[in-house]
Amino acid sequence: MIGGGLAGCAAALDLVDAGHDVTLFEARPTLGGAVQTLPGRAGDPAPPPDNGQHIALGCFTEYLAFLERIGHGGSVRRMRLSLPVVDEQRRWAQISPASILLARYGHLPLRDRPLAWQLLALRGARADEHDGETFSDFLIGRGQSPRAIERFWDVFIRPALNLPCAEASAAMGIFTVQTALLSGLRASELVLPTRPLGWMHGDAARTTLERKGATVETGVRIDDVDDIPADAIVVATPPAESARLLGEPEPKLESSPIVSVHLLFDRPLLRTPLAALLESDAHWLFDRGALTGHLPERGQYLTVVSSGVPGLLDVRGRELVERIAGQVTERLGHAELLWSRVSREPNATVALRPGTAALRASAVTERPHVTRAGAWTATGWPATMESAVRSGRTAARLLSDVATTVAA
Ligand SMILES: Cc1cc2nc3c(=O)[nH]c(=O)nc-3n(C[C@H](O)[C@H](O)[C@H](O)COP(=O)(O)OP(=O)(O)OC[C@H]3O[C@@H](n4cnc5c(N)ncnc54)[C@H](O)[C@@H]3O)c2cc1C
Repeated sequence: MIGGGLAGCAAALDLVDAGHDVTLFEARPTLGGAVQTLPGRAGDPAPPPDNGQHIALGCFTEYLAFLERIGHGGSVRRMRLSLPVVDEQRRWAQISPASILLARYGHLPLRDRPLAWQLLALRGARADEHDGETFSDFLIGRGQSPRAIERFWDVFIRPALNLPCAEASAAMGIFTVQTALLSGLRASELVLPTRPLGWMHGDAARTTLERKGATVETGVRIDDVDDIPADAIVVATPPAESARLLGEPEPKLESSPIVSVHLLFDRPLLRTPLAALLESDAHWLFDRGALTGHLPERGQYLTVVSSGVPGLLDVRGRELVERIAGQVTERLGHAELLWSRVSREPNATVALRPGTAALRASAVTERPHVTRAGAWTATGWPATMESAVRSGRTAARLLSDVATTVAA
């Protein structure tokens, strides 16, 4: 296995369970890939910040089963889908099944509120037929106003696809609505981690794999697949590295960033576990103290996430903190900032814009006994933790019959 993100860990787990000798090589010092906790620094509140808040949904069945397998099925909090949204006038409204059904979402004028039938109309759409257009264009073609797109659809599409509706492929938007919002209340539930991400993913996966007899080699970057004495190999790395290792042309998939700003204020500002801000760089706020069960002695510990805004990558340190903290206090009330930390992930996910479906490689490679995995591959899912786990399991299934020693 090359690559110890969720894709590689999921593949390794299946292969070791199928009785193969497995070695997992990971370039970084820890497993978990894009799902990490930042190394602790003096003065950090407990627990130290993650590289970015990760949210799963009830429909992430393979990801949730993976957590169970590594002993952390209980390290999440499930919540009914209810998204508090704060507008420019500091008014609060909820996006929830009830508010959609009863046309009560207050951040839209009455004429834009009949969203229920719009959502239901997506039930019959063939997602794969709409990869040629943006989700915005698709929605506008079905009578949605630009205002409804900005103030309703973007609130949940942006974090789900790490792009706004105006940039995301309609195929991915339709898939997300069908899979998360139109597949029953349980599928739409928010699933939030309650432990540090590194602990409940990479560290737990390592412990489980080693207990089952796999070898885990961290801090080892593989340069050439041919250097590896194994009957079979799974390449579970991001797209450019996957292409390099497999000697293929690099897929023309761009990345989309996530910038997270972690803030400790001297008084509580957010009275819900999470909230979205409209017309702000601070797209989503999470009460990290409350979600992890570590309320700070004083004030409130927040994680603020901005998804798919490349311009924020260039805003440096203090300026970024001041901008984000200022936008938060402007909406939620005055407070003094006691501590902050920034995490920038320029390549957080691939950007699934129109025309990208065909660029996502399948698990099968041209090399015998070498398969490919990664959230970016052709799983049919957006580039999420669910996609990563599914891709790993598919890559493992394809190899399982042919190999006894699987590695890299
Ligand atoms: C800040 C942030 C927030 C996110 N939020 C969410 C969210 O809310 N919900 C959600 O579902 N998803 C979210 N994601 C996306 C999700 O984390 C990823 O899609 C998923 O974890 C990717 O897993 P992966 O195994 O495919 O790839 P990666 O995690 O990228 O793992 C690939 C691994 O391969 C290793 N590697 C690369 N080259 C080599 C080599 N030559 N030799 C050895 N090892 C190598 C890398 O070091 C890396 O660890 C977020 C991502 C980020 C960064």
